[in-house]
Amino acid sequence: MQNNEDKFKKVVAHAKEYGFVFQSSEIYDGLAAVYDYAQNGVELKNNIKEYWWKSMVQMHENIVGIDTAIFMHPTTWKASGHVDAFSDPMIDNKDSKKRYRADVLVEDYIAKIEGKIAKEVKKAEKRFGDAFNEAEFLNTNPRVLANKEKIEDINKRLYGALGSNDLEAAKQLIIDLGIACPVSGSKNWSDVRQFNLMFSTQMGSTADGANEIYLRPETAQGIFVNYLNVQKTGRMKIPFGIAQIGKAFRNEIVARQFIFRMREFEQMEMQFFVRPGDEMKWYEYWKETRMQWHDSLGMSEENYRFHDHEKLAHYANAATDIEFKFPFGFKELEGIHSRTNFDLSAHEEHSNKKLRYFDPELNESYVPYVVETSIGVDRMFLALLSHSYNEEKLEDGSTRVVLNLPAKLAPYKVAILPLTKKDGLPEKAREILAELKMDYMCYYEEKDAIGKRYRRQDAIGTPFCITVDHQSLEDNTVTIRDRDTMKQERISIVDINAVIALKIKG
Ligand code: ATP
Repeated sequence: MQNNEDKFKKVVAHAKEYGFVFQSSEIYDGLAAVYDYAQNGVELKNNIKEYWWKSMVQMHENIVGIDTAIFMHPTTWKASGHVDAFSDPMIDNKDSKKRYRADVLVEDYIAKIEGKIAKEVKKAEKRFGDAFNEAEFLNTNPRVLANKEKIEDINKRLYGALGSNDLEAAKQLIIDLGIACPVSGSKNWSDVRQFNLMFSTQMGSTADGANEIYLRPETAQGIFVNYLNVQKTGRMKIPFGIAQIGKAFRNEIVARQFIFRMREFEQMEMQFFVRPGDEMKWYEYWKETRMQWHDSLGMSEENYRFHDHEKLAHYANAATDIEFKFPFGFKELEGIHSRTNFDLSAHEEHSNKKLRYFDPELNESYVPYVVETSIGVDRMFLALLSHSYNEEKLEDGSTRVVLNLPAKLAPYKVAILPLTKKDGLPEKAREILAELKMDYMCYYEEKDAIGKRYRRQDAIGTPFCITVDHQSLEDNTVTIRDRDTMKQERISIVDINAVIALKIKG
């Protein structure tokens, strides 16, 4: 129907037009990479958070939640390594004056080579038909093999350079690959420099000697510094987890792609504390469990993939991303990291407080290992919005824009629509509204022709429309219209609540 760039533009425009996402401070021309959630957006966002919270906290006896402050003692960030190492390599193009992340420039270059491989596969698929064996093709075709080798070489150079903080080598790689600025087409690059992503501010008045503190760049540290408080007061036994949803702040070098990369965003993180040596078992467990969570939303398995990290962060001994196919390609949606005992040991050292767990089964104390799952609320929101945005050609030749959101996450579950504004239909409709609004977000509307009202509900993703007509007054039935099939069935008013509950559960 349309290319992906077009689709992405439409999704962004739709998000504004239908009250999902507004640019922050729009009347002052906005603030880069900061966004506000509007009346429908906030419902979707809250539903995403609730769905995550239920699956992580309510469904696991050994996981509890907390809500820690955004401000933390500044030593937290020294201990965690963020003061010294939470930076991205940046590079400027001297002609366009645009700033880029050096690693992202190289990764985009690699994505182009991957695109070439995918094209070869498509071509061969066409040629060989049913006899096509993709795995064999990928392992034997000379052009594919040459491209795979190229990617391997580039990755080795990139991660080698970044791993040893050799910024000159990182720049040389960009020059050797002939990467040009996407804006100016020029190859006139500055040196690569490290740029710390933490925002800082002052706490206290300067007269008393104010302290420099940071806006947290991840929610995880609030969990680490509290893990023993939670363990003791909750009488938790290892293995156990602590979950948290909250804001995080990063002064991203390049902020593009709408709410994919923001400077103020929200994370849903869970730290799972395990016995040293058990971490790989739990890492595999959480990889699988988190992928099942995504599958449960029905956005097609082929839109997800794992991407194991080659370059591990300073705290990790294994890490993978769950990537989602956004309109601009496969990108990280969630991270799953085996963080070893790095953070807790560092906090022990910097605070001079023991952060050990006494394991009654082993009769010994140790610093637990940690496996974390970390997903951005906003990225999940964008995944849902871009996947569910569809333009459908209808039989009568018209088109409708519909958000096929999973019913359980839709901002409104049901719209209640009297067919006309008279004959007692609004009164009947309001009686139904009064019954349902305790259980569901309901939308009541009596203005405009019914077809127009259905379209408006389609555009905000409301899965069910209840229409009250003249027959309703006679036999206490209504029609319920399904957003996706547009089919209507007649049901009794007393059954509405149960029917909707069943449909939402799927
Ligand atoms: P990226 O490589 O895209 O910068 P990251 O690896 O730095 O992401 P993590 O530190 O693993 O990200 O953070 C966990 C999750 O938080 C990410 O998977 C993502 O969903 C979300 N996230 C991170 N940075 C941002 C951001 N700037 N805007 C929105 N969400 C973000």
